[in-house]
Amino acid sequence: MYKAPRGTSDILPEEQGYWRHVTDVAASIGLLYGYRPIATPIFEDAQLFLRSAAVGTDLADKEMYVFNDPGGQQLSLKAEGTAPVCRAYLEHGMFNLPQPVKLYYITPAFRFERPQAGRYRQHYQCGFEAIGEADPIIDAELIDLAQRFLCSLGLSEFSIGLNSIGCQTCQPQYVEALKEYYSSYFSELCPDCELRFVRNPLRLLDCKKEHCHKIADAAPKTLDYLCTECQTHFKDVQHYLVALRIPFSIKHRLVRGLDYYSRTVFEIEPLEEKSQSALGGGGRYDNLIEQLGGNPTPAVGFATGVERIIANLHKQGVSIASCTAPVAFIAHMGKEAKLAAIELGARLRRSGVSVVIATGSKSLKSQLRQANSLNTSYAIIIGEQELSTATVVLRDMKAKGQTTIPLAHIEKALS
Ligand code: AMP
Repeated sequence: MYKAPRGTSDILPEEQGYWRHVTDVAASIGLLYGYRPIATPIFEDAQLFLRSAAVGTDLADKEMYVFNDPGGQQLSLKAEGTAPVCRAYLEHGMFNLPQPVKLYYITPAFRFERPQAGRYRQHYQCGFEAIGEADPIIDAELIDLAQRFLCSLGLSEFSIGLNSIGCQTCQPQYVEALKEYYSSYFSELCPDCELRFVRNPLRLLDCKKEHCHKIADAAPKTLDYLCTECQTHFKDVQHYLVALRIPFSIKHRLVRGLDYYSRTVFEIEPLEEKSQSALGGGGRYDNLIEQLGGNPTPAVGFATGVERIIANLHKQGVSIASCTAPVAFIAHMGKEAKLAAIELGARLRRSGVSVVIATGSKSLKSQLRQANSLNTSYAIIIGEQELSTATVVLRDMKAKGQTTIPLAHIEKALS
């Protein structure tokens, strides 16, 4: 028996109501804040991600699904949503449009991680990107959007953590100070952190292991090393957030998993905290577009994990109705009635009534059982008697009562 690959799952009809809910709310929030939808391919030139994620990040080092296509091109399944949107921004000359260009997407993302609760090899991200604007007002507006998105979905128990990790001017000094601090703890670090020390020191702050966590807590803080421009930018972001009444807390250890972030970074955690629990996160990526071959272009973005949103909706007791059931089920008895049933089904669908027609030649009881499991409001029953009198039996599946009505009146009876 085949099974879905490890770390992936099927989204069955019963869960689709939740997924539709997320898509609908994303679209209405997009509209509310002036973000337009975009979709990019499931695979891209592998270098797009390798370059944007950079060496020393888990994503670039060991999590990407890289393969050569039959033509010999090295491709990668989409590892995250931001780099492809930036690639599309450049490829389609969106820099010629009034800036910022605001785009949103819902996309699967693929990461070869160790599967566990809330961490999958294929997961879905809903992301919002504002490209071409350095003004801190857009950082604050995006955090406001993130909060409104989660609240509109029905979530309430989450907190927003905020930090600034500086820019190309001030970050190197900070990284030096960080390395100096960590050098006296080197022998105590976990093997992952030993590697981070050499390849990507900022990520030292993010280690989830208890002992490393303690060392990170007392490490130098990025905020103490910001240049004047970054300080002003961060002050303004907070000022706007206060004006917008968005609750947030400064988290000194907050850095992001990917390498392209600068200045503002933020993360949203459910209140009941677990190691792999971030609902979403984002920040500024002022250098990414240039890294991808464009002109220097400031940008800021945010992505949430759809599976984690849905898990939290369940946890917080928010129930979303499953996708609507068909209005009617047509049951039939006998060959001629079956023909009449398919004709009636076509007629009802033409007038916009959703119907399922029984197949095979099951007993009436088993046909009605099927109607019941489909949760239809009505069953329409056609037998010999009904055929000869141009009538149908209309059974109300909830009230369980039934009446015989002229076939000509069926649309009216169902409306
Ligand atoms: P990232 O691009 O890593 O910032 O991810 C954005 C959001 O996607 C995270 O905050 C999570 O909610 C979600 N996410 C990231 N990786 C996974 C994964 N492997 N499985 C499920 N959700 C994920």
